[in-house]
Amino acid sequence: MSLSRGIVEIRTLDELSSLYEIAPDCTLTKEQYRNPLRPYRLIRPEASCQYQKNGKRCSQLHQHGFVVELHDDSKVLIGNCCALNHLGLDDEQVRGDFKRLSATERQNIRRHKIETMLNQRDSLIVRTRAASIEYRKLHSSAMQTLKALPIEVRRALLDRWKRNALEVSWEYLIIKKGKDETGKPYEERGWYAHSFGQFKGLGLWLQLDQQLYQETLLNLRRQLEAVPNKARLNQVELELAEAALSQVATLETIERELHGQSELLEDFRKPANLQLAIQVVSNQKVRAETVKAIYQLMGEACSMNPEKYVAEIDLALKQKYSANGIRIAS
Ligand SMILES: [Zn+2]
Repeated sequence: MSLSRGIVEIRTLDELSSLYEIAPDCTLTKEQYRNPLRPYRLIRPEASCQYQKNGKRCSQLHQHGFVVELHDDSKVLIGNCCALNHLGLDDEQVRGDFKRLSATERQNIRRHKIETMLNQRDSLIVRTRAASIEYRKLHSSAMQTLKALPIEVRRALLDRWKRNALEVSWEYLIIKKGKDETGKPYEERGWYAHSFGQFKGLGLWLQLDQQLYQETLLNLRRQLEAVPNKARLNQVELELAEAALSQVATLETIERELHGQSELLEDFRKPANLQLAIQVVSNQKVRAETVKAIYQLMGEACSMNPEKYVAEIDLALKQKYSANGIRIAS
């Protein structure tokens, strides 16, 4: 069996020639034909069809065909089309042989692919475990962050993330007073927008509870562990293994997403970024609670009363812009 010779799937004419000694000058007729040996699917059409029809050799270059054996033991190549539609014409036995051989070949290739991938089963199980640990770490950090913040701020963050509205802006009021040419006093009020900066690190972690990472990882691990650890799997086991292995791409996606979300959360929790959270709602009481929250998240004690902290921010803004008034979270 050619499998033992290391070529599971014949992909080039060179591979084909290394497995079978093809008689290139022979032609194949129905009378000389004995039986098919093996199908092949080449990458390029480089096999020449040796079937003889209408008195001459077909010679069509093809990708998909069969190695067949003649009564004199020589081996020749026939394209798939000539095999099924000419040599196999009106001969169910011949057509059946070709079709069975193709089915067996496909099955062998599939089995080989799965069994090769199964060598990675242990490392895949280790990866699902590692991803679960990563998930729990991210989950606990995300929950700690969200729980610390007032609900109004959590809602504002979620909304901003969904709208991709990362800019944290505020407005200040300038009132100009004067007299016009006729001496009549006038007052001009103008609001001017200004930015505190852009939020960093908002992401899926804000809704981590709604993601199915944990379930998916557990499910995958169970599936991988359910595949028997033996050299030759039966058909049912093979299908089990194939279903489990088909989820490797899912594992890769989860690993990438967990890593990405952990980085985002880390960015979010940087002190300068946390400061922005004080400015996403206008309610002074909530802003004061946010001050407490961010100091708690930074692991530091706030030396100032939170209400005063907020008032000082606003006062500093007013003074800096000589403003008559300000609007936060505008
Ligand atoms: Zn042909």
